[in-house]
Order: sequence, then structure tokens, then C-alpha cells
Amino acid sequence: MIIVLKPEATPQIAEKLLAEIAERGLKPLHMPGVERVVLGALGDERVLAELNLESHPMVESVKPILAPYKLVSREMHAHDTVVKVGDLAIGGRGFAVIAGPCAVESRDQTRNTAREVKAAGAVGLRAGAFKPRTSPYGFQGHGREGLRILREVGDETGLPVVTEVMDTADVDAVAAQADAIQIGARNMQNFALLRAVGQAGKPVLLKRGLSAKIEELLLAAEYLLAAGNEQVILCERGIRTFETATRNTLDLNAIPYIKQKTHLPVLVDPSHGTGIRDLVIPMSLAAAACGADGLLVEVHENPAVALSDGAQSLYPQGFRNLMAALTPVVQAVGRQMAAAPAPRAAAAPAEVLA
Ligand code: PEP
Ligand code: MN
Repeated sequence: MIIVLKPEATPQIAEKLLAEIAERGLKPLHMPGVERVVLGALGDERVLAELNLESHPMVESVKPILAPYKLVSREMHAHDTVVKVGDLAIGGRGFAVIAGPCAVESRDQTRNTAREVKAAGAVGLRAGAFKPRTSPYGFQGHGREGLRILREVGDETGLPVVTEVMDTADVDAVAAQADAIQIGARNMQNFALLRAVGQAGKPVLLKRGLSAKIEELLLAAEYLLAAGNEQVILCERGIRTFETATRNTLDLNAIPYIKQKTHLPVLVDPSHGTGIRDLVIPMSLAAAACGADGLLVEVHENPAVALSDGAQSLYPQGFRNLMAALTPVVQAVGRQMAAAPAPRAAAAPAEVLA
């Protein structure tokens, strides 16, 4: 329920109402606005009816939140959320391109690729240390050693880093090294992982599951917000359909739909969305045109020798071409390419490798 208070309602009245909501076992929310204070109550709405808020003299209106997802809904929170990943802002007017290899394969490969994407205008670095692979014989990632390499390269280049966690047992280790924690498509409905990552105190990049409906994605995001983390970025990365010409079908309908229904920023991953290098640039441009807040794109210093996802990874030259093609499209839809965060002081090597 959304409870809109009258302009003359004092902070004490808001506090009293919030306490009454909490006493009934509902989750109280306080959303002070410029003109009005809005309160929220999440939980069994029949219990709320007992409070008879409609007839409270300082209550202007009481409206149910119709969406099954509450905290992520625009009904609850009208303005766009801007998520801070390190010093990088995702959402708002900027269009953020986060790029890097599928996996951390080695220090040199990660560093060389990071330097290339940074030089071309990427504002964040992506790479997996823990890799979800269909085959148990595929390269599984370097795990915690990979996390250390990624952190080191992030510090060297000044790029905030995004990396996946697959297991609740690794959440603290990933949170300690990453600027944003990725929950991959295969784990979108791993509820224990959602709860643990929701409490990890780092922004989260939540990818849509392979066969997940948009509503399921938004309810998965609701787990993160309900666990206390509002710094959530959604990511459309393609879904499985009857079509086999491409690895997945990139559902760009989802972008304006999600932007209308929620206040969270949404990125598009055209690499997993298509599986085909030559489709990455056109689908990236389409993503920018339909209102995405940025891209998560795979780039490898030499995709021909990549240990995973080489076929969909851009060469550095391809990434430069992408960035050049993106700028006018981003501007045409009234936005601007996000600027690189100011460089931070590099951590001492001993600290990084400890
Ligand atoms: C990835 O981003 O490297 C990844 C494994 O993506 P997804 O979970 O979307 O398959
Ligand atoms: Mn990949």
C-alpha cells in the first residue's frame, strides 16, 4: 500500500503511522518527497485495512500497489534510481558501457583487454572469475585468484569492476574485490544467493534468466531490495526461444517495459544476447535507441584464443567501432555517453595480492 500524507502532516505524524504499520507486522517504508510525504506498507493488506488509514485526518489517499513486485515498482518509487558502481553512475542521463572479457584468463589478458576498452571509452570492466559453464569440462574460471587479478587491473586502470558470484560461500570474497556483484542468468532464481547478495553491501547486476519472464526478473530483483539493497541494475541478456540461428533472442521489448514498470536502471548484454560477434554492434545501437541505460559487452584482446565465448567477443578494433557508432545514437535519444570516473590512487601491490 502507498499512503500519501497531506502537505500539513508533520514528521511526528509520519513516524507514528510508520510505528503502527510496523506493530502490525508489516514492513514500513518512508519516502519523503518535495511536496508530500509518502509512506509504504508491505505485507498482508487485510491487516493494514484494520488500521483504517483512509479516515486518518492527515492521510490524503491510500492506494494499493498493483504490481506483484513492490519495492522495484515505479508505483512505489517514481524517480529513476541511479546506481553507483565505484564512482560510476548507472542510470539517469548517462549511457554506461561496461566491457571486458568473458573470463579472467590471465593477468596479461585481463590487463591488455582492460587497457583497450578503457582507451576506447568503456567506463567499467567486466570479467568472470567464477564461470557458469554448461559443460563441467569447460574452463571454470580462476576463482579467487581471478578476483585478485581483476581487482588489481581495476585499480591500475581506474575502471570499476563487475564480476559474477555463483555460490553463497563466495559472496564475501566477491564483495571484497568487486565494485558490483553480478548474479548470472543461471542463478536469477537462486533465492539463497539473492538473499546473501542482497545483504553484501555492494551494488548488484542481476541478469535475466534464460527462460525467465520479465515479471520473474523483477520479483528476483525484489528479493535484493527486500534484503535491504536498493543498488540494483537489471540486465537483459537474451532469452531462449524456438529460434536457433542466434544463441539467444535479445528481448528489447523488455527495455522500455522495464523502464516503465520499475525505477531501476537496465543494461543490455548484446554478446550473450546474440552469441555472434557481427550482431553485437547493431544490437547495441538498438539497445541505446530503445532506452537502455548502458551495455555489458564482451571484448577480448584476441577472441580467437579466448577460453570462453570467443565467437561473441569483439576484437579491440570492433569495440572502438562500437563506441564510435554508439555516440550519435545515444545523443539522438537525448542522453550522453557516461564519462570515465576520475582515476583513484592505485592500491599498494602488497595489499592487492595479500
Ligand atoms: C557472463 O556475463 O559472463 C555470463 C555468464 O552471462 P549470463 O549469466 O548472462 O549467461
Ligand atoms: Mn560470457
